[in-house]
Amino acid sequence: MAKKITLITGFVTIVCLGGLGVAAARVRTSSAPKPQQPQPVPLSVEPLKGGVYWVKGGSGANAGFIIGKKEVIVIDAKMTEESSQGMLAEIKKLTPNPLKYIVLTHSDGDHVNGLSGFPQGLTIVAQTDTKKDMEEAFKDPKMSALLPYLPNETFAATRPLNIDGVRVNLLYFGPAHTSGDLVVYLPEQKIAFIGDLAFLGRDPLIHRQKGGTSFGLVQTLQKILDLDADTFVSGHNDPLTKADIRGLLTSIEEKQAKVKALIQQGKSLEEIRSAFGIAEAPAQGARRWPSLVETIYLDLTERK
Ligand SMILES: [Zn+2]
Repeated sequence: MAKKITLITGFVTIVCLGGLGVAAARVRTSSAPKPQQPQPVPLSVEPLKGGVYWVKGGSGANAGFIIGKKEVIVIDAKMTEESSQGMLAEIKKLTPNPLKYIVLTHSDGDHVNGLSGFPQGLTIVAQTDTKKDMEEAFKDPKMSALLPYLPNETFAATRPLNIDGVRVNLLYFGPAHTSGDLVVYLPEQKIAFIGDLAFLGRDPLIHRQKGGTSFGLVQTLQKILDLDADTFVSGHNDPLTKADIRGLLTSIEEKQAKVKALIQQGKSLEEIRSAFGIAEAPAQGARRWPSLVETIYLDLTERK
């Protein structure tokens, strides 16, 4: 990686790992942050290769962009207007080319709520189910500023595109983290932007309420491993390697096998949780995302 460009923002990073984070989109720090609040994380832009950059910090998940011959393609939109405008300012320092496209990996607020910080009239690309989830979320009157930014180019299945001379393969492998996860694969650069299809250092998050499933995630990760790529940019980690993805896949499969065996032995969810050493309730005040074990249990026992 080459030089790092840093911009200090005054906004707190909310590690909003899910689609439920939409209402928190406009949370900002005051000039005097409360002691318990995390410190603002600077937005920074780091080059990968071949005109491809990834963006971390600011508010929301990692994002990325590609500088094409005449245009710029952004991948994911951060979580607040301030952060997306910070990203735009960084792009302007690197190229005079105008932004034309935004590709969304999925519908979660920490990936899409910054859309209103972009100019209107861009081509916004997403999988069909992601658009449906966004339409649902944007019904909230607090989200009305985002209504002009619903995807205007959608498709249900994998779509190879050539955007401004850049090969951008939009791959859809079925429901996984949500129902509409896209892998943005750049075969020439051997880079894939994979949204929230991989989490390292914590349980993978799967939004069953948005059609996500652990078995779908396994299938999708297998397809990701088949790609001729060596750099995988996810929403909440530094760029990952194929070995990282393989390790994640194995750990999910092992948990699925163990949960399945325990269900077959007639164990309850409580017993299965305790077999994995998972606390039933979170620490007071903490938001509780379902553990992967719980998600697997529900995938195996509940009919959708
Ligand atoms: Zn997500």
